[in-house]
Amino acid sequence: MAEVLVLVDHVDGAVRKPTLELLTLARRIGDPVAVALGAGAEATAGVLGEHGAVRVLTADAPEFADYLVVPKVDALQAAYDAVSPVAVLVVSSAEGKEIAARLALRIGSGIITDATDLEAGDQGPVATQAVFAASYTTRSRVSRGVPVITVKPNSAPVEAAPAAGAVEALSVSFSEAATGTKVTARTPRESTGRPELTEAAIVVSGGRGVNGAENFPLIEALADSLGAAVGASRAAVDAGWYPHTSQVGQTGKSVSPQLYIASGISGAIQHRAGMQTSKTIVAVNKDPEAPIFDLVDYGVVGDLFTVVPQLTEEINNRKG
Ligand code: FAD
Repeated sequence: MAEVLVLVDHVDGAVRKPTLELLTLARRIGDPVAVALGAGAEATAGVLGEHGAVRVLTADAPEFADYLVVPKVDALQAAYDAVSPVAVLVVSSAEGKEIAARLALRIGSGIITDATDLEAGDQGPVATQAVFAASYTTRSRVSRGVPVITVKPNSAPVEAAPAAGAVEALSVSFSEAATGTKVTARTPRESTGRPELTEAAIVVSGGRGVNGAENFPLIEALADSLGAAVGASRAAVDAGWYPHTSQVGQTGKSVSPQLYIASGISGAIQHRAGMQTSKTIVAVNKDPEAPIFDLVDYGVVGDLFTVVPQLTEEINNRKG
């Protein structure tokens, strides 16, 4: 059967959920062959095999940690040459998109970024994307070369699909460009204990209606009751109420969770661009005419300072 390359996103061998989602999509097209790079690469094989990887190509070298993305591009290209896959799938993170774009250029292929679904087609995989600030959905396929496709987190379920997951060492020779940009320091982000915004299954966001940094704990409390990540509109970020890394939208992060709760957010087109593909959207807004109500599944017309604490309390009570 045709093989599909899947670049593994992992931290010291712990595979991140978006990669398991990629394996679900890869199995619709062919047999997934995972490519795990860097420290702990071999340790990923167990979980990758449980989710459908027939083979796990691994490579570790100091270059993967010491330099920016080019060593990983070299390795993915080595895997591409060794496997001759029918498609290459990568997680739509900032790093993933850079790796995918560089690989597509090298192998002369078309690339589709930020896919939200993927299915087999007669002439190659067909990807679904949300375009023009998520106002339209397109279905497209790559017409030149082997498709390189990046997929947004939360686009597919994680499915158990036991397969061999056989580890094979990947031989990589690094290009001159690989060592062109050296990492000189890493500053770990302060941990909030909450899931990463772009990967979270639930996101709770606050906007200008939250009316001050001192009120954001209301949003955080609701998020924590649901095990959610916290997002913010640009108005809230620009006002200095919440960090820029939490901004959702056209110039912020693009999220696609199972549930998105917007509080005190009007629903401007630039905000929608980053959250409109969420599976279920809930809004709390005191203005019944707010544009956000045009796209919600559930809307609450009310004062967030009343509604949000009540919701948090109710959820916490139900958890017992
Ligand atoms: P507002 O539009 O002011 O809405 C606040 C809402 O809160 C109102 O609907 C109001 O009814 C409601 N409200 C007020 N008080 C309460 C209360 N007590 N209870 C309940 N509801 C209440 N925006 C983004 O979010 N992300 C982006 O990435 C982004 N990129 C942009 C890029 C460009 C080039 C431009 C021009 C703009 C961009 N914007 C972005 C800004 C965007 O146009 C909006 O200005 C912004 O999204 C508005 O944020 P908001 O909804 O929080 O504020």
